[in-house]
Amino acid sequence: MYKNKIWLSSPHIGSNELQYVNEAFATNWIAPLGPHVNAFEQALQAQTKSSHAAALSSGTSALHLALILLGVKAGDTVFCQSMTFSASANPITYQGAAPVFIDSESYTWNMAPELLNAALAEAKNNGKLPKAIIPVHLYGMPANMEEILAIAKEYDVPIIEDAAEALGSNIENKPCGSFGEYGVLSFNGNKIITTSGGGALLSENAEMIEKARFLATQARDSAPHYQHSHIGYNYRMSNVLAGIGRGQLEVLNDRVEARRNNFETYKNYFSKYNNAGFTINFQEAPLGYYSNRWLTCILVDPALNNGLTREIIRLSLDEENIESRPLWKPMHQQPIFANCKSYINGVSDKLFEEGLCLPSGSNLTDEEFDRIFESLDHIFAKYQNS
Ligand SMILES: *Cc1c(COP(=O)(O)O)cnc(C)c1O
Repeated sequence: MYKNKIWLSSPHIGSNELQYVNEAFATNWIAPLGPHVNAFEQALQAQTKSSHAAALSSGTSALHLALILLGVKAGDTVFCQSMTFSASANPITYQGAAPVFIDSESYTWNMAPELLNAALAEAKNNGKLPKAIIPVHLYGMPANMEEILAIAKEYDVPIIEDAAEALGSNIENKPCGSFGEYGVLSFNGNKIITTSGGGALLSENAEMIEKARFLATQARDSAPHYQHSHIGYNYRMSNVLAGIGRGQLEVLNDRVEARRNNFETYKNYFSKYNNAGFTINFQEAPLGYYSNRWLTCILVDPALNNGLTREIIRLSLDEENIESRPLWKPMHQQPIFANCKSYINGVSDKLFEEGLCLPSGSNLTDEEFDRIFESLDHIFAKYQNS
């Protein structure tokens, strides 16, 4: 019997996006910039309690511009969370700089402050502090910003906050993306809201955001002809896509609520098995941390689950046309970064080995949840006290 695919995280359009896009068409504001871009930037500033935002073509381009604005160049090092998507680290290499990877703490799964501290102490001893530190709010869970900021301040190294997965998350009501010198957002198709592709750079520094906009539009000097005294990029968001973004931002709260409900639904479901001989673990939110729960992820240690592994679960779900995915493979394990320095404590290795992201779209239906739970029930039945 054919069953529709259940996706890990698919776009979920609200009711006003098309109207904004139509408006762009009707007024012929198709060409790159326009009123939607300005309005989207203002809405982003309000949402993230940031003074300035530049709408860009991707989260990756936002990270790249942040590194440029901080003067990262060939021969420099940048500290980056190891447990993340490669786009957190790739832009470091665009600048000819070298990433140094920092492992995670076991509750939030994000950058471990004590390892960061050790890495900075060693760097200082060697006379070569990094130019920036990139913590990530993985799957929407805020990193331990209080400690990370305090440590970074002690060594006077700026923070670029990769909040690509964490729009709508906060720590004690301070939004993710607003903690560092720069914050980065992504509106890629699988993120909590999407412009089909896009990103933003956030900062308190007006001058630097203005410079980001300048660099992102080919760095044209003010002259009637095309004159350039900087290397430029084509990194701006188009007015049509910003229209989608405006509509999506209006429904962000609903999307966060739906994803947080997904997490609770899964947690309830697994608690039944956790009371019956299994131990399925989750990403834990410390007190005061509010995660958008972009993706619900579980950890399955075979030693605690009668030999059941996350890979057995993934393959069984796949047979039912249900998409799930291992957690990010840490950067220090990636072939392309094999020669990079890293500070490792075993946490991200274990997360990668045992972790699985479950279908988490804000548009998941009750029927889809029933199908997921039915498949999982079959798997658990096979491993019950075997
Ligand atoms: C998606 C993502 C990015 C990159 O964003 P794009 O808009 O796809 O370029 C960067 N970092 C993390 C952690 C992400 O999940």
